[in-house]
Amino acid sequence: MRYCPRCGLGVREKDARFCPNCGATLPQPKFWERRIAWTGTLLERIIVFGVIFALCVLATTAGALTKIDLLTARNIVDRMNKIEEVLRTTDIGVQLIFGNNLMYALGMFVPVAGPWLGFYVLYNTGVIISAFGIIYNTNPLLVFLMLFLYPHTWMEYTAYALAISESFWLIYAAVKHRFKDELIIMLMMVVLCNILLLAGAVVEVVMIEILY
Ligand SMILES: [Zn+2]
Repeated sequence: MRYCPRCGLGVREKDARFCPNCGATLPQPKFWERRIAWTGTLLERIIVFGVIFALCVLATTAGALTKIDLLTARNIVDRMNKIEEVLRTTDIGVQLIFGNNLMYALGMFVPVAGPWLGFYVLYNTGVIISAFGIIYNTNPLLVFLMLFLYPHTWMEYTAYALAISESFWLIYAAVKHRFKDELIIMLMMVVLCNILLLAGAVVEVVMIEILY
């Protein structure tokens, strides 16, 4: 609570610039003294994150259910096997996976365009799964489900859903004239995505080494 320097009225309203009683200018907290005003409540943020996480999974499911011809499937699987061989035989696996995933995640933060990029990338992940389903004669949905047995899948989808959520909150904050506060939150989310994707890449490389 701040107090009016003229009439002494206690002002609870955080954004108030003038005293509602006498109109005197209220002392403004310094930028670094201010608490970050989160756009949306924590519950709203969790709900938006949950809905977007579900949409991310749905985008990959749609890709996994896409019918592709045998030749295309063969090409995709060959390409993926080559990438996997590079990951196994060199020691730059973590950098490759982390760099690739981070590049996509950063793109997903961009307002308006980010979600489209995100769902497109995740749909394409599904198409790769569909190709593996065809070549190895397995149900692609089962392959996708199996991926969620590995922690790195959770970490990656969490990072992407956080990025796409933030793209939404940036627009919402701009409408509410809170863009500056939201930028600080966005930076926190970028750091969180970096941590999640780096840890995810390490786990993924360890998994590949264990499985072969
Ligand atoms: Zn006053």
